[in-house]
Amino acid sequence: MEANIVVLPGDGIGPEVVEGAVAVLTAVSHQFHHTFTTHTHLMGGCAIDTVGNSLPDETLAACLQADAVLLGAVGGYKWDNPDAADRPERGLLALRKGLGLFANLRPLKLYPELMAASPLKAEKLAGVDMLVIRELTGGIYFGERARWTDDAGEEWGKDTMIYSAGEVRRVAEIAFRAAQGRRKRVASIDKANVLDSSRLWRKTVNEVAANYPDVTLEHVLVDAATMHLLSRPSSFDVLVAGNMFGDIITDEASMLSGSMGNLPSASLGAAQNGHGCPRGLYEPIHGSAPDIAGMGIANPIGTIMSAAMLLRHSLGLEDEALAVETAVARTIAAGHRTVDLARDGEPSLSTRAMAEMVVKYMEPIIGDR
Ligand code: NAD
Repeated sequence: MEANIVVLPGDGIGPEVVEGAVAVLTAVSHQFHHTFTTHTHLMGGCAIDTVGNSLPDETLAACLQADAVLLGAVGGYKWDNPDAADRPERGLLALRKGLGLFANLRPLKLYPELMAASPLKAEKLAGVDMLVIRELTGGIYFGERARWTDDAGEEWGKDTMIYSAGEVRRVAEIAFRAAQGRRKRVASIDKANVLDSSRLWRKTVNEVAANYPDVTLEHVLVDAATMHLLSRPSSFDVLVAGNMFGDIITDEASMLSGSMGNLPSASLGAAQNGHGCPRGLYEPIHGSAPDIAGMGIANPIGTIMSAAMLLRHSLGLEDEALAVETAVARTIAAGHRTVDLARDGEPSLSTRAMAEMVVKYMEPIIGDR
């Protein structure tokens, strides 16, 4: 296969973790005889500094031409001024919007060897394997907003949670299709006891569910969902939620694993690439970690696992994706740790050495085929 992958290293630890993921993709291309062409572009704070725009036109154009996009992270202290005309996060929102990426997928599977790092007890974590799907381009983050001061001098702020049935339907379809390939359960998260937008959400999800009789649907109020994620996390298979509720529960769910450095994500839309697959944006769930940027100690696993999702979803290369995921699991099982995963006194590897270890563990897997 020939594939064109745009790489956006971004800011902070972004370039460091992306280097590791690109090394893994290069190894996949050699070992499975594919040609992956990577083009690196500016996005985020580094783009503001270089060309005065967090998402340069040239970067968006390249992403629109690509089969898939791999992103590190954006942001940092330097660009934190809330009153600045442009900010790194604006580039990210514009990129998601520009690529029409309406569904964010965050799988959460725990590595048995790392369970001690989780704030939950091991017996609660047994069997945890969930996929959280968050609606990404609608809801309260994109509804009408305002700030004003009334005649009495009181300050006001307003945001609007708004969804069309079509926006709910397309993300629900992704959730039900994903569940068919998993344990066939969908938990839809809303606040239908209070919000009209949630009542529309629930009605639409029920309509979609009628087309998937093999999948069991439960509706969970978002407040209860935050509780159940801690009390019965292994009962969840696929969760689907609107933008803000999804934002909150994905961060909560990520903590079950102990380190956000391990966790990948994929953002998908309707647009297809030349391989008949969705053109996606793949990135770790963590940010640019300015506190450790440049030290070469960041955990690259989340970005490497994002590259595995890229292989699966945007290139249709399931065997290759599994080879990467298996190599990561074996690397961790063999006791290799970056500093965020190492327990007191345990030795740790650099970002580059950890990525090299994954490449090393991939070779025998491919040799076994
Ligand atoms: P963060 O995820 O960058 O860091 C939180 C903590 O986790 C830090 O202590 C950091 O050192 C650690 N950490 C994160 N990733 C790690 C990794 N791979 N290996 C080891 N340790 C890791 O969150 P933050 O500190 O709240 O945000 C920092 C900057 O990142 C901000 O500018 C924020 O806006 C931005 N951000 C960007 C994205 C994105 O690009 N998608 C997402 C979240 C935050």
